Amino acid sequence: MNLNKLTINAALKGLKEKEFSAEELAGDCFKAIESQDKKINAFITLLKEEAQEKAKNIANDFSSFQNKSLAGIPLAIKDNILIEGILCTAGSKMLSSYKATYSATVINKLKDAAAIFIGKTNMDEFAMGGSTETSYFGPTRNPHNLDYVPGGSSGGSAAAVSANMCLGALGSDTGGSIRQPASLCGIVGLKPTYGRVSRYGLMAMASSLDQIGCFTKSVDDAALLLKAIEGKDKNDSTSFELISELKKPSPKDVKRMKVGLIKECFVDGIEKSVKKQIEKTIKNLESFGVEFKEISIPHLKAALACYYIIMPAEVSANLARYDGIRYGYNDPKAENLLDLYLKNRTGGFGDEVRRRIILGAYILSAGYYDAYYRQAQKVQSLLKQDFQEAFKEVDCLVSATSPTTAFKIGEKINDPLQMYLADIFTVPVNLAGLPAISVPCGKVDNLPVGFQIIGNLFEENKILSLAKAVEEINND
Ligand code: GLN
Repeated sequence: MNLNKLTINAALKGLKEKEFSAEELAGDCFKAIESQDKKINAFITLLKEEAQEKAKNIANDFSSFQNKSLAGIPLAIKDNILIEGILCTAGSKMLSSYKATYSATVINKLKDAAAIFIGKTNMDEFAMGGSTETSYFGPTRNPHNLDYVPGGSSGGSAAAVSANMCLGALGSDTGGSIRQPASLCGIVGLKPTYGRVSRYGLMAMASSLDQIGCFTKSVDDAALLLKAIEGKDKNDSTSFELISELKKPSPKDVKRMKVGLIKECFVDGIEKSVKKQIEKTIKNLESFGVEFKEISIPHLKAALACYYIIMPAEVSANLARYDGIRYGYNDPKAENLLDLYLKNRTGGFGDEVRRRIILGAYILSAGYYDAYYRQAQKVQSLLKQDFQEAFKEVDCLVSATSPTTAFKIGEKINDPLQMYLADIFTVPVNLAGLPAISVPCGKVDNLPVGFQIIGNLFEENKILSLAKAVEEINND
């Protein structure tokens, strides 16, 4: 059997029952990487030696590790999450030789849980994009069809899990970067409530929207991985003390659950075949006793415009630190300070990142701040209110994760507006800080479709249980 194909829960059971060792498990993941990653390009850095050594330690002394929640589980980490001493590029030429000087809180937590890091995954540059094509290290390919994108920005993490090169992975989601690639690659992607997971050690894109989350092959695995990384952190003042404990997801909990179909997500811009697949899933969920009703989120139509104001404004502030002086790409030919800024930032950043920095600087400049940024903040407040009104009537909201299945490599990269439109169903969730999950619900023309479930703040239990019901349906 190929151990790399196991879910995290199944692998933990096998390790505990001594059916195989942590070394064999990691070994099978590296075999899968060696045979497939030349084509897929999911990894920027492999940590083979470190991982093998850790796996050996765990295998040799399993009894002292076995009460750890992820003992011996091989995971991949998006390349914007710091692991001390390891290259961390954010998919950018700017940081192509940058080694992290400390570890993110989520990394320390996973280390405490005795997980094994097998590599750092490819991503859109600084997490800006929806296809992983803006990476300095070349595009990642979708394991379901190598001519197609895996989604983005965490496309490397999604492809690595989907192609069984690891058992689970971490990503970051600012406007959909976990849920959309999970959807396009046919796996589970969970974006927790803003503040449930510490962002300390995550390279900031838009700090008020960024959240770390996970990619897994099953809903149970998503709950397990979230449990390992969540919690208040003194190094991230936006992290929260947890008020509800995560339970094991159960479809039994969805009986008589009230679920809202977001009206606006079923009318505009969604591909017919994707819509059909979502409607089929909804029909099937009714057999679990789920009660559906249509709900309107009136400001949803302004969400994308609002996101593409707030996000670049924060991007331009967060990326101001990359000047090549303390770290990062440094052009030796710079003649004076201004020339140094120009050369390092022009040479170090790709087109999409520069586009957003310029847009953000413009939005925040005197005279335009009120016209754009303040307006966008008002829309954000209205959107949050819409969601709170909705959650007075229903437990969860559902839609497609992405309006289309995976698109071809090269199809949208020269048309930023088309690329931005792919985020239409995911960005409202970040603007409202809510938790959401994408769970596979069948295929269209052999390409996966993802079902998005959105919950109220800190109600991850509800979305996980509903996702588990979706998982149990035969969706094909
Ligand atoms: N695709 C979105 C964007 O380009 C989302 C990015 C993200 O969530 N990091 O901004």
